[in-house]
Amino acid sequence: MRHRALLTCLTGLVVLLVAGCGDGGGTPAATAPSSPPPSAALPPEPAPSPTRAVPPKPRLRPLPAKLPAGLVRTTGTAKVALTFDDGPDPAWTPKVLDRLKAAKVTATFCVVGTQVRKHPGLLRRIVREGHQLCNHSWNHDLDLARRPVAEIRADLVRTNREIRRAAPKAKVPFYRQPGGRWTAEVVKVAKQLDMRSLHWTVDPQDWAKPTAATIEKRVKRSARPGAVVLLHDGGGNRAATLAACAKVIAGLKREHGIARLT
Ligand SMILES: [Zn+2]
Repeated sequence: MRHRALLTCLTGLVVLLVAGCGDGGGTPAATAPSSPPPSAALPPEPAPSPTRAVPPKPRLRPLPAKLPAGLVRTTGTAKVALTFDDGPDPAWTPKVLDRLKAAKVTATFCVVGTQVRKHPGLLRRIVREGHQLCNHSWNHDLDLARRPVAEIRADLVRTNREIRRAAPKAKVPFYRQPGGRWTAEVVKVAKQLDMRSLHWTVDPQDWAKPTAATIEKRVKRSARPGAVVLLHDGGGNRAATLAACAKVIAGLKREHGIARLT
């Protein structure tokens, strides 16, 4: 709820700012299109004046009501794909990699730049073992897609640079917006940087720490042919995800087959 209220506030602020600078005249009068009724003898309560807005809050564009066009959401075949977000993490990523290796399948790792900087060896292991990389922003900024385009680009470039510092020949064919809070702008920037925007179709919400059995049940229930499954190997205690991994992987492999995203 707080979240929604904040959104509404920010949207309102953006509208205010746009209304205030729309004509480029810059005169304060331009901000008061509806004059007070003549009977108002007393000065009205001060409207939010332009000076109030001067220490600017970050100007975020609103989130679109629905997901923008151009997202990769399925594998394009009957097989399903696994994706692991928010690592690399020294506690969990190696164990997830072990599970994948044991099952002889590969996944896509959506890595966070600051984590790559701390754990370049893990990034190299991900690449060495044949998994794919996906840029997941520098610092998991949930609002990144709503920021000015130049900031989005700088963030994605910085993250790719860190990935390539760790693994110089690594390919980064995908970008995934933290929180799935996409805008058309971030999709466009990712495309300009040769990355396809990777969403998902199955989200067992393992980040909210359900039990391993619940994670397994949720994946099994909602996986369809071509599904892209979202799991996490970083961002917190991933014990339940890890515990679910073996059965989730075996189940998906048996039901659909697991493929690399292309
Ligand atoms: Zn994430």
